[in-house]
Amino acid sequence: MEDNTSKTPVVKERKVKGRVEIDIQKCKGCELCTTACKEHALALSDTINIKGYRYIIANNDACTGCVNCALVCPDAVITVYRTHPKKKPVDITPADIKEQLQSMISPVK
Ligand code: SF4
Ligand code: SF4
Repeated sequence: MEDNTSKTPVVKERKVKGRVEIDIQKCKGCELCTTACKEHALALSDTINIKGYRYIIANNDACTGCVNCALVCPDAVITVYRTHPKKKPVDITPADIKEQLQSMISPVK
């Protein structure tokens, strides 16, 4: 019988991952971020925030740190960090994200 063990691909676990933090009291539950997340790492909560909206909860084990969610959030309430087991997490959210959003909402004529 043929031995296939040497043909099994070795899948290395990613060391560099992502982690998101969400300001849940400012989230309005619009779910643009859940649609943008290809890793299905974001989901609506069962409970509501002080504004009465269901908010987003992150499964950071699935997060790759692609930043898509932060880029689509109309209220800029998501902060994305790049993490590494031996290094401090780095904030990789675009620094001018609020200005970018503002210029899209009210473009200068
Ligand atoms: S950074 Fe990317 S993978 Fe992580 S939650 Fe946001 S959209 Fe999903
Ligand atoms: S896009 Fe922003 S406001 Fe909308 S659900 Fe996601 S975190 Fe909340």
